[in-house]
Amino acid sequence: MKIAVFSTQAYDRRFLDEALAAHPQGRDITLEYQEAALALHTVALAQGCDGVCVFVNDHLDAPVLEALHRSGVRAVLMRCAGFNNVDIEAAHRLGLFVARVPAYSPEAVAEHTLALILTLNRNTHRAYARVREGNFALDGLLGSNLHGKTAGVVGTGKIGLATARILKGFGCRVLGHDPAPAPEFAALGTMVDLPTLLAESDIVSLHCPLLDSTWHMINRDSLARMKPGAMLVNTSRGALIDTPAVIEALKSRQLGFLAIDVYEQEGSLFFHDRSGDIIDDDVFQRLMTFPNVLVTGHQGFFTVEAMREIAEVTFGNIACFMEGKHCANEVKP
Ligand code: NAD
Repeated sequence: MKIAVFSTQAYDRRFLDEALAAHPQGRDITLEYQEAALALHTVALAQGCDGVCVFVNDHLDAPVLEALHRSGVRAVLMRCAGFNNVDIEAAHRLGLFVARVPAYSPEAVAEHTLALILTLNRNTHRAYARVREGNFALDGLLGSNLHGKTAGVVGTGKIGLATARILKGFGCRVLGHDPAPAPEFAALGTMVDLPTLLAESDIVSLHCPLLDSTWHMINRDSLARMKPGAMLVNTSRGALIDTPAVIEALKSRQLGFLAIDVYEQEGSLFFHDRSGDIIDDDVFQRLMTFPNVLVTGHQGFFTVEAMREIAEVTFGNIACFMEGKHCANEVKP
């Protein structure tokens, strides 16, 4: 089986090659690495392949899936959990096998979420730069304790639960909101409706998938419902947040802090070195001007443990497809 691997970075290659060498069916699988993201104009790179292996910013809408199908592709292997970038209905209609990696170290993303919260809460991003310049003044670095604060977790699936566990360990009162709450959450906190969570939380952390129903769930109205000066954290998907509305809330001081690992328009920025480029995205550049905003470039998943898991599960999914076996990670409409 020949697979075109899109959006390949050196680290993807490292972990996929290691897992391929160790996989029992590794000899029957050939990977063709492509740096380009998958989109209509790059579909030709999958010519002659049986499958494509894709990541969060590859774009698999109906025209792309139809073009892949015409060129002989029969399987879509996702190296991620979220599948908002794939038209699952269209894939199903075309008879394409689509599989994902549903849970690769939820702790990786949960721990990154805490890294963001603690950084903003204690101004370590500013202290780091100051101390390196020989400035040991504390003025402007005043933080606040996490202990005793209320933290609201929106989406109590695998990552939300892992985040709630850590927050509870810090001594936070944890609130959760989820239309299908996990029973394990009862030991960690209290389930409430979204308006209550927004009104009572000092920290709101988003861990629900991007769906039509969750698109821009944080907007002008929901920001106004938040506790003044609260912190908003998004390590899930960028489009959960209406970024211009968040900028307005930061300017009015209604929102106290923002930490994001994902951004709605991240596709043209993240995963590449743009340090020598002029960045045209004025909304993103406005965010960069706030001292109380912290942005990382979609690195929540990026730990050795998670990368190994992603590669191993991806080959498990490929083996299922090759053998025509039931695949627990298959994504269906
Ligand atoms: P999951 O499927 O285990 O949990 C998602 C939870 O969200 C479910 O319990 C679901 O019921 C809930 N949900 C659905 N609609 C909701 C709504 N309207 N309000 C509140 N909750 C709602 O998924 P997970 O593994 O915990 O991952 C969560 C998200 O994290 C993924 O969708 C993905 O977008 C993102 N993610 C980000 C990174 C990263 O590197 N930053 C890595 C992996 C996953």
